Amino acid sequence: ASANIGVVGLAVMGSNLARNLASREGNTVAVFNRSPERTRTLVDEHPEAGFIASESYDEFVASLQKPRTAVIMVQAGKGTDAVISELTARFEPGDIIVDGGNANFHDTIRREAEVRSHGLHFVGMGVSGGEEGALNGPSLMPGGTAESYETLGPILRTIAAKAPEDGEPCVTHVGTDGAGHFVKMVHNGIEYADMQLIAEAYDLIRQGTGKSPAEIADIFAAWNTGELESYLIEITAEVLRQVDAATGEPLVDVILDAAGAKGTGAWTVQNALDLGVPTSGIAEAVFARSLSSKAAQREASADLPGPAEAWTVAPEDADAFIEDVRRALYASKIIAYSQGFDEIISGAEQFGWNIDKGEIAKIWRAGCIIRARFLNRIAEAYADDPSLVALVVAPYFRDAIAGAQESWRRVVQIAAGAGIPTPAFSSSLAYYDGLRAKRLPAALIQGQRDFFGAHTYRRIDKDGVFHTLWSGDRTEIETEPSWH
Ligand code: NDP
Repeated sequence: ASANIGVVGLAVMGSNLARNLASREGNTVAVFNRSPERTRTLVDEHPEAGFIASESYDEFVASLQKPRTAVIMVQAGKGTDAVISELTARFEPGDIIVDGGNANFHDTIRREAEVRSHGLHFVGMGVSGGEEGALNGPSLMPGGTAESYETLGPILRTIAAKAPEDGEPCVTHVGTDGAGHFVKMVHNGIEYADMQLIAEAYDLIRQGTGKSPAEIADIFAAWNTGELESYLIEITAEVLRQVDAATGEPLVDVILDAAGAKGTGAWTVQNALDLGVPTSGIAEAVFARSLSSKAAQREASADLPGPAEAWTVAPEDADAFIEDVRRALYASKIIAYSQGFDEIISGAEQFGWNIDKGEIAKIWRAGCIIRARFLNRIAEAYADDPSLVALVVAPYFRDAIAGAQESWRRVVQIAAGAGIPTPAFSSSLAYYDGLRAKRLPAALIQGQRDFFGAHTYRRIDKDGVFHTLWSGDRTEIETEPSWH
């Protein structure tokens, strides 16, 4: 027993995480994979890591110091359950099983309860940053007990990405049981929204100004020096600049325009629906990918009528238009994050997690796909007011949107007029205006519901629950709240 931590599952993510762990002072890493070839390859290719390799679960468990700590990095779902049951059968009370795969947080809640019943700790940990992050520094979102974090935290702090501003490791104890995987899920949902918004900005500039992808790459590179500075803006410039070797065309013009998805965006939206949280920007981003992949419907619809006149931006107006798009992007991005944090707040209430929103913003500052300068502003907003009801009302973001909203409205108007789809820009603006509205037509909907289903309504001028006798003399009666 000489390893202080072990990794089970040595495909790309597990191998990289194991190498990251092994490269840090004080760690000796045990490794195990179901098929021993993978273990042998890793050990042969990385003698410098000093791995303790095993070819059976018994050997692997025996190679770990107590309390034993093992990180599972296998195919999410059945693979994870299989490894958990192997480890649970061999671990002893106080030992820690960490699942670093992309588990659904509902599974994590179930697994945590099951593993806890054996006296073991189970930590569902969101790992962001892909292969590169796993090797050089991911953003880590562990859930599980606070007690397990006492052992795990110091190790995770050594391997996590470090925030550029203050060198703080991008890891925190997110909350109990499934909290870590829940927050990782919302991270991915925000990522979908951010990518869709960037794509809409690109599309508007391209169609409006006729600039080439390489020219637009320069625009994104310039944006990356300001308030939009982020990994996604940076890589957007790289992708737009890429030229296809086979055709000499911009790569973006030869890539099939059908976006894939692995499902975590859909989970974010499904849970938002369950929780009643309006994450409309994230939902539009998920649906935009679905629409892009509906080949038969798109083909059948390709000659449906659009605006009579073609739209272009006059050359002398191009700079102003591009600046409008930049501001629309920033404002919509604030909405996407505001919606994502709203889901975190509701999830925390629903599942009994004590999640520090400012800490979440901080651990996303490096190592993960949505890393951005702007996360510092979010951390500050929650530091100033931990019970902030919505990010958009924090003074900094309120001012940022105040400065951007005229541009945002122009861009959405132009897009609608030109027949260019901007579902994320448009829905974010509608969400913002919905929040702002002093009075919403929801009153009419309550009237309709009461008419056809006697669903009752409340009044603005007195307490109680009311129903109008629509099919009778249409007088109003006070009643019990409707249950249907
Ligand atoms: P895969 O998701 O491709 O899974 C392959 C690994 O799972 C192999 O080690 C395989 O073992 C093992 N495995 C599958 N079924 C079983 C089983 N029943 N018992 C034991 N082991 C099993 O590997 P990745 O490295 O791509 O991803 C690992 C995890 O990390 C996944 O949950 C994935 O979703 C997540 N991930 C996260 C990313 C991120 O950015 N955070 C990016 C990519 C992945 P064998 O070699 O024997 O087949």
